[in-house]
Amino acid sequence: MRSILGSYKKENINTKQTGVAKSIKKNKTKKINSLKSASNSKKDKKFNKNKNSKKSVSTVKKNVHKVHVILDSGHGGGDPGAIAGSKKNKDLIYEDEVVYDISRRVTELLKKRGIIVHNTLADPNQKKPIRFLSHKHDKDEHLLVTPRYLNRNARTAANMRVYLVNHIFQKLKNKKVPKENILFISLHGDALHSSLRGAMVYFPDKRFRKSVFGLKHKIYRKRKEYNPNLTFRKNDNTYSEKLSKSFGKIIINEFRKLKLPTHRVSSAVRGYLYRKGKKTLPAILRYSKVPTSVLVEIANLNNKYDRRSLLKSKSRQKIALAISNSVVTNFGRTSGLVAKL
Ligand SMILES: [Zn+2]
Repeated sequence: MRSILGSYKKENINTKQTGVAKSIKKNKTKKINSLKSASNSKKDKKFNKNKNSKKSVSTVKKNVHKVHVILDSGHGGGDPGAIAGSKKNKDLIYEDEVVYDISRRVTELLKKRGIIVHNTLADPNQKKPIRFLSHKHDKDEHLLVTPRYLNRNARTAANMRVYLVNHIFQKLKNKKVPKENILFISLHGDALHSSLRGAMVYFPDKRFRKSVFGLKHKIYRKRKEYNPNLTFRKNDNTYSEKLSKSFGKIIINEFRKLKLPTHRVSSAVRGYLYRKGKKTLPAILRYSKVPTSVLVEIANLNNKYDRRSLLKSKSRQKIALAISNSVVTNFGRTSGLVAKL
């Protein structure tokens, strides 16, 4: 009985995906069109039409870029992040393990939709999603910097991610991928008061940005991704705040569409958090060069209902689906923006 139900449900999810796949195709066409109009001035069009239509097609092809998602799974390796629940109640949960599993699911879903995913973290022993989360904390995840880093220190790992994410972004920009086609998503789990439930999203409020990221320690300098000149301009910060906030709203909306719990409308998308009573931004948002950058708190690990839900692979799949749906939705909405540039 259970297996029949399972396969039925799977089919259901598949139908949904096909629906979304269709809609991304539509969006892609829209985007291609918008890129076409952005890249060709009226003069060029005339020239191409009259004299060299073959060249015109290849120029358009060169200007069409796919969507890239830089997907960061929070913590990992020596840093478990938040730990909640208990072995006794069979609901012990490690933040890094649950978000890593969800990151595997998001990666699979996005790839199916033709979106290119760049992961920041890898576990050589867990390349695919798993059905049952381990109640043990495994420490073999490492950050994909060169040479690799096993997250022995949580703070160092957070800084290392800044270099890694900006390096991936720069590489894509060098390949002429429009910066609006690149999204950065960092996955985390909250450890708030146990009465609070659901997901929320942080975006980089420009007031909490810093103008320079200038670490000098050799642990960073010896990495290929190290960049001694990471600076941030006000205009870029303003633009990034706008794009990221809008993407954040889309994410929360997609969670709600799938009936996943989220914070109240007024507080589900935030530009800062409080640390020791002060407003601040996590390093990864504060120093990200990716215009659309968000940190998603998938649920509150301290809430027992959220915890129970996260222990079910079906719920983790649903969260992954909401996140990948939001990438598709965002792409549809920003295509107009790209055309203006
Ligand atoms: Zn975290």
